[in-house]
Amino acid sequence: MQRKKSINEKCGVFGIYGHKEASTITYHGLFALQHRGQESSGIVSTDGKLSYKHLGMGLVADIFSESKVLDELKGHIAIGHNRYSTTGASKIANIQPLVFNLFDYQIAISHNGNLVNTASLRKKLMEEGTIFQTTTDTELIIHLIAKSKSKKLEEKIREALNIVSGAYSMVLMTEKQLIAVRDSYGFRPLCVGKLGDSYVFASESCAFDLIEAEYIRDVNPGEIIVIDEDGLHSYKGKCNPKYCIFEYVYFSRPDSRVFGEFVDKTRRQLGKNLADEADVDADIVISVPDSSNTTALGYASRSGIKFEIGLIRNHYIGRTFINPRQSQRDFGVKIKFNTVGGVLKDKKVIVVDDSIVRGTTLKKLTKLIRDAGAKEIHVRISSPPIKHPCYYGLDFPSTDELIAGKMSVDEIKEYLGVDSIHFLSTKSMLSATNKDPSEFCSACFTGDYPIKVNEKQDKEIFEN
Ligand code: SF4
Repeated sequence: MQRKKSINEKCGVFGIYGHKEASTITYHGLFALQHRGQESSGIVSTDGKLSYKHLGMGLVADIFSESKVLDELKGHIAIGHNRYSTTGASKIANIQPLVFNLFDYQIAISHNGNLVNTASLRKKLMEEGTIFQTTTDTELIIHLIAKSKSKKLEEKIREALNIVSGAYSMVLMTEKQLIAVRDSYGFRPLCVGKLGDSYVFASESCAFDLIEAEYIRDVNPGEIIVIDEDGLHSYKGKCNPKYCIFEYVYFSRPDSRVFGEFVDKTRRQLGKNLADEADVDADIVISVPDSSNTTALGYASRSGIKFEIGLIRNHYIGRTFINPRQSQRDFGVKIKFNTVGGVLKDKKVIVVDDSIVRGTTLKKLTKLIRDAGAKEIHVRISSPPIKHPCYYGLDFPSTDELIAGKMSVDEIKEYLGVDSIHFLSTKSMLSATNKDPSEFCSACFTGDYPIKVNEKQDKEIFEN
């Protein structure tokens, strides 16, 4: 994917307080959150006096492949981060958690999301003499914390966050505290759990399942939670939920609980709503694995048409959508997917997919399905056409690169070479959850942005 210059990040974060194997637990947590970022990963731990860190480019299992690496990450508090980034920020210095020495303590930070008003703030801080070590928006928060005159860390953080704007679900750590923070819109998920006497935070609850921690609740939008030797302290803030609906459509794992609801259940309902809106005479329903599997099951159960496995995914390649370089994206759909000829031959096939970004992958896939002998292909998409960029942490391309930004639905059908296509309506997508539709952001589909963004300004940061 040709990436616009920006500072967007969409990542996985994890934190734990009060466990003698904090770094190993964090490693396992990051492993479960690998789908949220595959470019780099890192863990920072502390024993209350010193901090220890290990960061690297690549997958969690490769970066922490030797047990001695984890042995050296000593202490009872740790935070971790899986990173997915854009070109401008794709360098070693930007790997998180970022660690900074403030006046009398160290602070480490893992950030999931994207700030939208960084340009002017960064410029102002630089004019005042601040030297930035990275090109991430995350560092800005630390400098603002450092500038605060407040006494308590939670007050410093609140002050800093009152200045920035955008999407952030973060875990921070000092030698004494673990802190979790979520923006007032709650765009990105963040939940809190317990592992014995230890507290844990993770972007998605699937991380808790692997470490056998108990999910307690979401960190509420606008909330700051501080864990220290006295336990959990919650500081409530302004709460105006605009949860990212795309977490349900595509991004989160189906075995996670996100925004308080099970992703699997919502995704199945998306499939059912899709069948209600655009059922069609066909022999089988197949999914584009893996993110559409549960949606396709929902479609099949509502339509009564048999679900089949018609596409096999090679799991050892990485997700096209998440890969940071154009050359890797073009590595080839065929190396990622293969068709099951016996399933598809002479069949009228419904292909369920979660979304269409550029359409290039789906075009190649539908050709593979046709080549495998499918008689008819009916594409069913469990979200509306994506026509607008996301400024809150998902790195969609600009409007002119989005297929729905430049083609009508009929033109997309022609481009894909399929017999029919249907995109789920915004209303049906939002009604697949148990929440009020007004609690969701759906700006990439509707253009109705909860926070306005000056994209030109954001670009200027990195072009200077
Ligand atoms: Fe999610 Fe789209 Fe909103 Fe971005 S613009 S937060 S992807 S719904």
